[in-house]
Amino acid sequence: MKTIGLIGGMSFESTAVYYRMINEAVRARRGGLHSADVLVHSVDFQSIVELQKAGRWDAAGERLGAVAAGLERAGAECVLICTNTMHLVADAVQAAVKAPLLNIIDETAREILAAGRRRPLLLATRYTMEHGFYAARMKQAGLDVTVPDEAGRMLIHDVIFNELCQGKVLDGSRERVLAMIEAARAQGADCVILGCTEICLLLDPDALPLPGFDSTAIHARAAVDFALGRTVASKAA
Ligand code: GLU
Repeated sequence: MKTIGLIGGMSFESTAVYYRMINEAVRARRGGLHSADVLVHSVDFQSIVELQKAGRWDAAGERLGAVAAGLERAGAECVLICTNTMHLVADAVQAAVKAPLLNIIDETAREILAAGRRRPLLLATRYTMEHGFYAARMKQAGLDVTVPDEAGRMLIHDVIFNELCQGKVLDGSRERVLAMIEAARAQGADCVILGCTEICLLLDPDALPLPGFDSTAIHARAAVDFALGRTVASKAA
């Protein structure tokens, strides 16, 4: 079994979900008392949020790159950034290590394509919905991402940072987000991406008005596939 390296803490609420999902999947697949060989470097999220707010993505990339290098030195054979938003600096993180970075956008796109869907509604932070890096990478994979309107984007962003990342799961917010999914369905979306690693705390991907793709579960599964045998092209030495 290969060693998985998690860059976590963004927020720790979702890193805890990754940890549990990865270990449960290894136990389910290997049986007995098997569990994952996993290293977690959980950062202080406040310091990352400050870089996000200041638009200091280069500094954030350097910081997470250093964390990835530390995980690799400690024995990680693959690296995961446990947040969609910080995939904005995925290239900088990959450049800091030889081990493959398992990209949450690519893994999510693969599952959507395999399910025969093409027009996903993206629910995520404003950075992920508005910066363009996410939709561009999905487009390369052949997917036409749509996002909520301005008011909807503000709502979901605030739910993520003011509620879910702080351990608050509110019924009223769930209802508002479900109404957004319903509206997107009426406008032609054919599935929904839970494109923030905390949204699975609020929504059950299997109980939505559209087929749901949970980025946290998909990413965790990719890590387990890698650890138990799937090969991913390594960065050349
Ligand atoms: N975990 C979230 C995501 O998947 C948001 C936190 C962050 O800004 O990194 O995007």
